[in-house]
Amino acid sequence: MVGAASLAVLALLGACSSRQDAPSGDIVLITIDTLRSDHLGLYGYGRGTTPGIDEWFQDGAIFERAYSAEASTSPSVVSLLSGKLPQEHGVRLFFQLLSEDVALVPDLLPPSYKTAAFVSNMVLTDEAIGFAGRFDHYDDFLDRRESKRRVFERNAETTTNAALLWLARRRDRTRPLFLWVHYIDPHGPYKPPSPFAEAFEHEGRLPVQLDRIPPFTRLEGVEDALEYIDRYDGEIRYVDRQIDRFLDGYARNQDPDQALILLMADHGETMADREHWFHHSFHVYEDIVHVPLLLRGPGVEKGRMQGLVSGIDVATTILAFAGGRGIAGGRGVDLRFGSAVDPNRIVLFEASLVDMQWRGARQGDGKWVAAVSGEKRLIPLRYRYDLREDPGEGTARDWQGSEASALLEQLIRSDPDPAGVPSSYAKGMKLSAPKVAPTVSKEQLEALRALGYAE
Ligand SMILES: [Zn+2]
Repeated sequence: MVGAASLAVLALLGACSSRQDAPSGDIVLITIDTLRSDHLGLYGYGRGTTPGIDEWFQDGAIFERAYSAEASTSPSVVSLLSGKLPQEHGVRLFFQLLSEDVALVPDLLPPSYKTAAFVSNMVLTDEAIGFAGRFDHYDDFLDRRESKRRVFERNAETTTNAALLWLARRRDRTRPLFLWVHYIDPHGPYKPPSPFAEAFEHEGRLPVQLDRIPPFTRLEGVEDALEYIDRYDGEIRYVDRQIDRFLDGYARNQDPDQALILLMADHGETMADREHWFHHSFHVYEDIVHVPLLLRGPGVEKGRMQGLVSGIDVATTILAFAGGRGIAGGRGVDLRFGSAVDPNRIVLFEASLVDMQWRGARQGDGKWVAAVSGEKRLIPLRYRYDLREDPGEGTARDWQGSEASALLEQLIRSDPDPAGVPSSYAKGMKLSAPKVAPTVSKEQLEALRALGYAE
């Protein structure tokens, strides 16, 4: 006869071994390029840009104070997937290959996981960053959309088709998935397809000089900033429609409530803020590094979360959910427990330019900002914002020593790449011509419909 105590022990052993043996649920990571948080419905925007995202995540965790680790795509995405700060993973530039020594989520997941990625930004192609070997399937085809300006990307519809087609053709359905889809559409130039291009109309006029807008974002003859904002919102509405379609397709054959689904932007974008027009990557202003971060799935605490969180937390959360290996020296927190984030937590971010760098830290309502230059890591400029009194960062205040400022200075001094300029690195290939995505044939679309993956 087995006593109650033994039963308890057996139950405990059973619980432990099932945790180890049974595959964990799917993980779906959606990243959106250049999406500032205040243009989503869940973050209070009133224009109806994101009905799909709002519905998928309204009962999940909504992080109101989330930050990208870097102000541009490549370093930010490597932080998302590695759980490390840029100075720890070393990617500071576009077309800089990731070191093989840096582990990413797919390297650290339990081997039962099948991993696949669908990206749409040229700086995330395998030639540019070297991710393909980390995934079982890495789809980095691009369109010819902006070939005149030598900026290549793949639109949200084609990216979604590729991901759904892969899901439909997948043979081994017993393995859990780690699926990453990166959408680029809100990135300049703001040229959503019809009817999204005409979805928003402004009143009044806000003049802007064309030469104040980055060349790749300028729209011929359009000198009204409000028109750019309409089109930016149109891109968001378009990508939202496709994300809704992707998640619907996923949900037709898998239970979305069993999956951990995360959505985050790699960085934001200035609109008309402080006369910085439609740009990112050059600074750590809130418009650029304060981003949306949404999460839903088993064990995810629901509600609006006020803790300071970062892109580096994404990898930590995924690995904790899946029972993967930990991140050596990782600073991330598990986002499933949003209200447990330490209110004194310090979150760090940066923007590396070729000859200098902006570094920033947030703690409480404070934000510390430092400009760093040269081999000696000089800090020629440093200041502070009080975001409770001055959320628009209108008044730079005197730098005041704090726990956050001390950590920031310590990191600047110990950065192996002074001022964020890597002393040596492997250069990825700039794309001279895009790899053109094969168009989905009528037959394939029919097959997708038959499987319930497309409408
Ligand atoms: Zn980006």
